[in-house]
Amino acid sequence: MSSTADLSGKVALVTGAGSGIGRACALRLAADGAHVRVVDIDQDTAKAVADTVGGAAVVADLTDLDPASALAADVDIVVNNAGVQTVSPIEDFPPERFSMMLRLMVEAPFRLVRAALPHMYAQGWGRVVNISSVHGLRASAFKSAYVTAKHGIEGFSKVVALEGGPRGVTSNCISPGYVRTPLVENQIAAQAETHGISTDQVIEEVLLARSPIKRLVEPAEVAAAVAYVCGPDASFINGASITVDGGWTAG
Ligand code: NAD
Repeated sequence: MSSTADLSGKVALVTGAGSGIGRACALRLAADGAHVRVVDIDQDTAKAVADTVGGAAVVADLTDLDPASALAADVDIVVNNAGVQTVSPIEDFPPERFSMMLRLMVEAPFRLVRAALPHMYAQGWGRVVNISSVHGLRASAFKSAYVTAKHGIEGFSKVVALEGGPRGVTSNCISPGYVRTPLVENQIAAQAETHGISTDQVIEEVLLARSPIKRLVEPAEVAAAVAYVCGPDASFINGASITVDGGWTAG
């Protein structure tokens, strides 16, 4: 994996780092020299990734907010990545699921950043990176909690940017389109079966109907954007939402 930033000596906490985008971020930040704290609710995957990157596995349910806060007290980089999806019309959407998704994707990031800022401010350097989504910028029907949470994290990220900027802390969102993760690949297979069409047709005509580039984003491409905003070339990039969506949100 190519490296652009020298992050040696930095401690990076990545949530949901056992799988998908979070795992790619852990690999990339470690390749760039950071010591990675691999936080995930899944013990086996957290340990596997931590072993791979020579980091530390931390098993935690981030919806349990008080213990979650304690994980970030001494980190230099926070990557808020853990997230889940539920697809349902609003009138059927389980309210407790809606609350849980906002707790995981908005409140836990707030708690982690809140806990991390004193150390970042004391040293005059810190990086907050929030994995948002095109759904932080655009809505889709039947994804009410997800779209609400992702719009929420976009707003929170900008406030961190305003408060942190004068003190050496930047905050940015990375906002991907559909990423090639197990979750998305399973969705594609299921839709191909349901509609009786090929997986390529599902990608081009269903998932990426609004994207001018008809392919999935690779997790490593998202991780490269994360590494970029952590690196020295991006110290003036603050409060941004960097889309990695093939132009979806340009239309
Ligand atoms: P994933 O399911 O592969 O990984 C998510 C990880 O989060 C898993 O390892 C899971 O165990 C962990 N996790 C879930 N709930 C948790 C909890 N309560 N506490 C601790 N860890 C928990 O998902 P992914 O596709 O890699 O998505 C990662 C992030 O990227 C999410 O925020 C998602 O919204 C965002 N995103 C994904 C896509 C996509 O197409 N896959 C697109 C845009 C944005």
